[in-house]
Amino acid sequence: MQKEMLISKLAKLAVKVGVNVQKGQTVVVRSSLTAKELAREIVKEAYLSGARKVIVDWNDEYVSRSSFLYMDDETLQEVPDYVVDRSKYYVDHNASFISVISPLIGVNKDLDPKKMQLAMRASQEKLKFMREYTMGNEAPWTIVAAANPIWAKKVFPNLDEEDATNKLWEAIFNASRVYEKTDPLKEWEEHNENLNKLSTKLNNYQFEKLHFKNSLGTDLIVGLVLDHIWVGGGETARNGIYFNPNIPTEEVFTMPHKMMTEGKVVATKPLSYSGKVIEDFYLEFKDGAVVNFDAKKEKEALQSILEFDQNAKYIGEIALIGEDSPIAQTNLLFFNTLFDENASCHMALGRAYPMNIKDGIGAPIKSLEEKGYNNSMVHVDFMFGSPCLEITGIKKDSSKIKIFEKGNFII
Ligand code: ZN
Ligand code: ZN
Repeated sequence: MQKEMLISKLAKLAVKVGVNVQKGQTVVVRSSLTAKELAREIVKEAYLSGARKVIVDWNDEYVSRSSFLYMDDETLQEVPDYVVDRSKYYVDHNASFISVISPLIGVNKDLDPKKMQLAMRASQEKLKFMREYTMGNEAPWTIVAAANPIWAKKVFPNLDEEDATNKLWEAIFNASRVYEKTDPLKEWEEHNENLNKLSTKLNNYQFEKLHFKNSLGTDLIVGLVLDHIWVGGGETARNGIYFNPNIPTEEVFTMPHKMMTEGKVVATKPLSYSGKVIEDFYLEFKDGAVVNFDAKKEKEALQSILEFDQNAKYIGEIALIGEDSPIAQTNLLFFNTLFDENASCHMALGRAYPMNIKDGIGAPIKSLEEKGYNNSMVHVDFMFGSPCLEITGIKKDSSKIKIFEKGNFII
């Protein structure tokens, strides 16, 4: 495997397909220090694609960890003006955002989730305009991943550090459709076309509800908002630029109605959240809200998500992915949502995407809420797909159409 060559192909993909950098644009790269190799390539590619200015915001999980451990609660919640001003500068310059993640899985497993939440909530509140900017697709944004030895050992526990890291890189390249011999930009063009066809099919049905059922205990009705839009692959930002928010992506997803989820959903993959791994959990819904839940591991972390704010216990996204997707076929557990969510049907606790409803982009959140939009500070995806999952779409006139059989699309 020619790692350097593939890393630069991945960087080019993030720049050209991820955010589709245009001449004269401002680009912000938010990168984990562990991913510096990929981040540096991205910066170079962004300039080569005509970026005016590329700004890198580095983050480091060890530094954050020390802050959570040693800072007092009050200081943790301090969001200085210069942090707010920096984000304002980005928004004023209509910047595109590339997040380069490289999670150090489990590094924060002994930290108090409540303390982490204090800090996150404070910054979420102060930087609300920033969240609305990205979630509202004011400019392109994307997420791409880089391997690191800690993450690699979690995914491949039986290999030594070097082999595991190489294997993880390989898995990331394959999942991102970055291969030695082909042009990833072409691969993505075709991939986007396929996802687009699938979304169009689902949009034409305009189902009122979806019924999910499998032998693991999931029996769930998810009501969809009126005039919902299924989206998959590329999207168009408000400034007119076509972009891909996730590398990789395999999902088509839409907006559930905030108050219309009923029944039980059993998670089929662990959920890694703020450095903790929540395992073997289920949620029960009534009138859209989680009314009961349990987890064999890290129940407290799950609880902290649900209690993040008053709407975190409602869902904001429902996404369909067949078990035949390339990421599902690897049978790997990445312990990271960017990958695991693309191997399995999933839903998100918390806020919805305005683009998933007709005329949603740019509409006031208040008017969207009246239509069933869930507004929350969190958006946490968890996976519940399985090879035995059946999905039936129910139309307004009560007629039913089977969408999924044995974990795969049949439409
Ligand atoms: Zn999703
Ligand atoms: Zn999501």
